[in-house]
Amino acid sequence: MTLSGKKGLVLGVANKRSLAWAIAKRASEAGADLALTFQGERLEENVRDLAGTLGRESLILPCDVTADDQVDALFAKIRESMGRLDFVVHGAAYAPPEALSEPFVQTSRGAFRMALDISAYSLVALARGAQPLMTEGGSLLTLTYLGAERVLPNYNVMGVAKAALECSVRYLAADLGPQNIRVNAISAGPVKTLAAAGISGFSAILGVYRERAPLRRNTEASEVGDTGLFLISEAARGITGEVLYVDGGYHVMGM
Ligand code: NAP
Repeated sequence: MTLSGKKGLVLGVANKRSLAWAIAKRASEAGADLALTFQGERLEENVRDLAGTLGRESLILPCDVTADDQVDALFAKIRESMGRLDFVVHGAAYAPPEALSEPFVQTSRGAFRMALDISAYSLVALARGAQPLMTEGGSLLTLTYLGAERVLPNYNVMGVAKAALECSVRYLAADLGPQNIRVNAISAGPVKTLAAAGISGFSAILGVYRERAPLRRNTEASEVGDTGLFLISEAARGITGEVLYVDGGYHVMGM
């Protein structure tokens, strides 16, 4: 699967454990030129250091997905420097910590709004920004979790946000398909990342997956990276509006 000559934007790299980083690495190895974003100066150095290991020059740009002006500036800069885009990897998600530990019924309006804005609406905003740059068709890829469909301990409002995200994937796929822009999601099994560490009892969830998933082990970020490469490559040219599970088969189990 080659991405030679392709240009991609990747959001959601916080550190080397980030799922977005696993996809970025595979995309770069497959020949793609990348723009990577960071949210706030705190993470800029991390992202620059990681990008330096890719062996090809990447564009590093700020983007807080809650700020329309930053999203607009991001795509203006990409147009200026890269000319066009072939794929976008969306790996941004956030919910306030208390919303991931208190009972779901306690979710405040503010926490609900913030989780849905950052974790779901951002895909719509990015799709709108990317659309005019995807002059030769393209692929949008986001990351979701089984908590969108089933109740998992403490996933709470993030599950609601992921349900909205998965539904957005289907509506965007219908809107953008006529321009040969595909929109898909990977539903990843739990992987110990910075975002995952914010979910109370996350280690216990890892243990349950190891015990009950058909493959009897936890998901590795590299597995998400490989499937990400597949979905953004020509090999997946017939797939859109899809949620593809990379979770060792856990989602098929009833008990
Ligand atoms: P991660 O490394 O912490 O990545 C989450 C990213 O979202 C971080 O780079 C974070 O930046 C960014 N983000 C948060 N708020 C943002 C904002 N306002 N604007 C721009 N970026 C923002 O964790 P991850 O696990 O790889 O998460 C990536 C995606 O995979 C998420 O959608 C997550 O829900 C999904 N996922 C994860 C798992 C898992 O078990 N790890 C399983 C299934 C799906 P900051 O650090 O600056 O906040």
